[in-house]
Amino acid sequence: MRKINKIIIHCTATPEGRDVSVDDIRQWHLDRGWSDIGYHYVVDINGHLKEGRPLRRAGAHTRGYNKGSIGITYVGGVDENLSPKDTRTENQEGRLRSLILDLMDKYPDATLHGHNEFSNKACPSFDVQKEYKDIIDFFK
Ligand SMILES: [Zn+2]
Repeated sequence: MRKINKIIIHCTATPEGRDVSVDDIRQWHLDRGWSDIGYHYVVDINGHLKEGRPLRRAGAHTRGYNKGSIGITYVGGVDENLSPKDTRTENQEGRLRSLILDLMDKYPDATLHGHNEFSNKACPSFDVQKEYKDIIDFFK
């Protein structure tokens, strides 16, 4: 297994309410010339957790930080005009939180981040440090 040092949260930057499948995302990423879907986990619009790229393989989600990280995305993240918006539903919030807890427990050396901490993108359209402060503090 790769050494995991970061867990990085993303959004798909698709409009609020639009259902997007793992296969859709995989196809977009294959169309970019990547070998597979770039994320390891997808939390779909109903809050269901779907597996993407196998964890043992580095993802393609955060330039410069893929080697030691796990990439998680929720479906959504923009409004109808494609402006950044935290569109997480209650089910998505719950699923993200439990997935993050599981992974932080499994990879105690990992730190938790939003994509926007490593790029000038808005992704994931919310402040990960603020939202998950309790989890981050718990695992410090
Ligand atoms: Zn992102």
